[in-house]
Amino acid sequence: MAQVLDGKATADRLLEEVRQGVEGRKARGLRAPCLAVVLVGEDPASQVYVRGKVRACAQTGVLSQEHLPSADIAQADLEALIDRLNADEGVDGILVQLPLPRHLDPKAALHRISPAKDVDGFHPLNQGLLFEGLPGLRPCTPSAVMRMLEIYGIELKGARAVVLGRSEIVGKPMALMLLEKHATVTIAHSRTRDLPAVCREADLLVAAIGKPGMVEGSWLKPGATVVDVGINRVEDPALAARIFAGEPKKLEQLQAKGSVLCGDVRYGEATAVAGAVTPVPGGVGPLTIAGLLLNTLQACEARRG
Ligand code: NAP
Repeated sequence: MAQVLDGKATADRLLEEVRQGVEGRKARGLRAPCLAVVLVGEDPASQVYVRGKVRACAQTGVLSQEHLPSADIAQADLEALIDRLNADEGVDGILVQLPLPRHLDPKAALHRISPAKDVDGFHPLNQGLLFEGLPGLRPCTPSAVMRMLEIYGIELKGARAVVLGRSEIVGKPMALMLLEKHATVTIAHSRTRDLPAVCREADLLVAAIGKPGMVEGSWLKPGATVVDVGINRVEDPALAARIFAGEPKKLEQLQAKGSVLCGDVRYGEATAVAGAVTPVPGGVGPLTIAGLLLNTLQACEARRG
């Protein structure tokens, strides 16, 4: 039976690190870091994510601001808001919650954020620093996953790592961070031939594709470490019956609530084959928020340093 990599417990540990960092600043007579969150419109899922981020700020003593422009805001007005936050000495980190309404250009908005306040780590300057292996603000999800692997003592040097997914938010930066720690990295995606065979080579598999239960137990190398980044909502009972075999609790939740969250990996099957695996929920999700708060503290210290 695989070890469960507890993202919630790891996130609590990282948040405690942030809380102590904030306390340390206060003891030195400095103000707490401040994160400004920009949420355009009223997308319910984004509202849930933003609430989680603001709650984590409060838990760690980080100050937070919420900016809530209406869904019809013009690109120029959104960028003017970002400019104001860039110039605000009291703001250390700026996060524009994605996705944006369709008429807005997310890249242009993200590139407008000052690299020094880019706590999501999506600005090309920060991406370039990561590419060069230099310190900078790094994307929250992969950097927090790296901290979790370190905390659990997962050996990366010389390990075969497969990153499933090549997004700029997760897959690509994850691959670079694993490479930096001397893993031999393969990036797989929707055009990869014989995906199961590629995955079976992995000592470490990171799945970030957004396809519920796509990775089957038979795709895993026995003893592998499996990090499941995917967050998917399943409502179809036939799909659920296929991917939740051996997970009666998931099927009960689906019956009770009409939907259930799961990752890209069939957790029930993975626990029988893998050496260690993250659950969904309670795996990478909480880690991402902790990564954001660590970045906010880092941005604050760097600006004042
Ligand atoms: P994304 O931008 O949609 O990228 C998905 C990647 O998966 C793409 O590279 C795509 O390949 C690949 N892919 C899609 N279908 C595939 C298939 N059938 N076989 C092989 N590869 C396939 O997604 P993302 O933003 O990286 O997010 C991925 C998942 O992680 C989503 O479920 C998202 O909700 C979740 N997520 C979770 C957290 C967290 O905090 N836990 C944070 C971020 C994202 P191509 O490039 O070839 O199209």
